[in-house]
Amino acid sequence: MITKIKKVDEESLKEAKELLFNGEVVGMPTETVYGLSAIGTNSVAVKKIFEIKGRPADNPLIAHVHKDYDLNKLVYIKHDYAYKLLKEFTPGPLTLVFESKGVICKEATCGGDTLAVRIPSHAGAQELLKAVDVPLVAPSANLSKHTSPVTAKHVYDDLNGKIALILDGGKCSGGIESTVLDVTGEVPRILRAGLVTKEMIISVVGSCEIAEHKEGDKVKSPGVKYRHYRPKCQTALFKEEQIDDIKELYQKEKSAGGKPYIMCANEVAEKLVGYDILFLGSGEKEIACNLYDKLLEGEKIATLIIAVEMPNERGAYMGIMNRLRKSCG
Ligand code: AMP
Ligand code: MG
Repeated sequence: MITKIKKVDEESLKEAKELLFNGEVVGMPTETVYGLSAIGTNSVAVKKIFEIKGRPADNPLIAHVHKDYDLNKLVYIKHDYAYKLLKEFTPGPLTLVFESKGVICKEATCGGDTLAVRIPSHAGAQELLKAVDVPLVAPSANLSKHTSPVTAKHVYDDLNGKIALILDGGKCSGGIESTVLDVTGEVPRILRAGLVTKEMIISVVGSCEIAEHKEGDKVKSPGVKYRHYRPKCQTALFKEEQIDDIKELYQKEKSAGGKPYIMCANEVAEKLVGYDILFLGSGEKEIACNLYDKLLEGEKIATLIIAVEMPNERGAYMGIMNRLRKSCG
């Protein structure tokens, strides 16, 4: 199969719609990462997503809808705080887990009684969702366990020959996957940290829990139990205070004939003059936006990426640190 990359426009949207209604899967942009989408009621198409990615069959998919779609068609919204969150944070990088009405096929929800729903803010994603006017289920458009794609070219690098079309909507502005929030209980509970932070949720609804994933637990967001986001080269993860260890490992890799790169915030890079650096930028928004891009650039040029942790785990740094541990730890 030849994989085409096409800018989002009237013609490519028409082609994407035809492919989707023919039971094919299509790469699509969102503001978080690129998605691999299928019509959420078509179990044959949904199975293709799992096959193409090599995704474990017990890791459910998020249903994406346009901003005017009536969520009551898909889920039961039991708590008033969920409406407040929808009003404040959608369209945007927040996924809400509700009790499902069973409209989306069981292959997508992995037989569970809940459904994760997201309303992406990316203009191209909205246009596609409007064009099909049915929910599209989509995980990130990468091979399972690999780093998530934030450009159409990243999708192509992983899925070339496996899908017919990638809609190109430019580089994702968010850069890490959506916050996944369980809104089935009395208090919202973060299952996966992202750019809509615990602090932001508390500011709107007064409280928010963080789900703890202990060994052996039946986890609510199965995705979190797998190794994830890993680039193809070797990796290491250090705290900023361990700068001497960072330099030592760097030199060791170099002496062994390797090509080490240090991936860090710009402020940290200032202390590493003369070293090869993958610059993440400055501040949580910019760092989130650059993280996967730098990992995917790094795997092409480095034998070893030495990543440096964030200064704290507040705000979006929580989601960034979660991805850093899984990708480089
Ligand atoms: P991905 O799109 O590959 O980043 O993965 C989607 C994420 O959403 C995974 O972490 C899933 O476990 C999570 N997810 C999807 N559906 C549900 C659900 N019904 N309940 C809890 N988590 C979900
Ligand atoms: Mg993923």
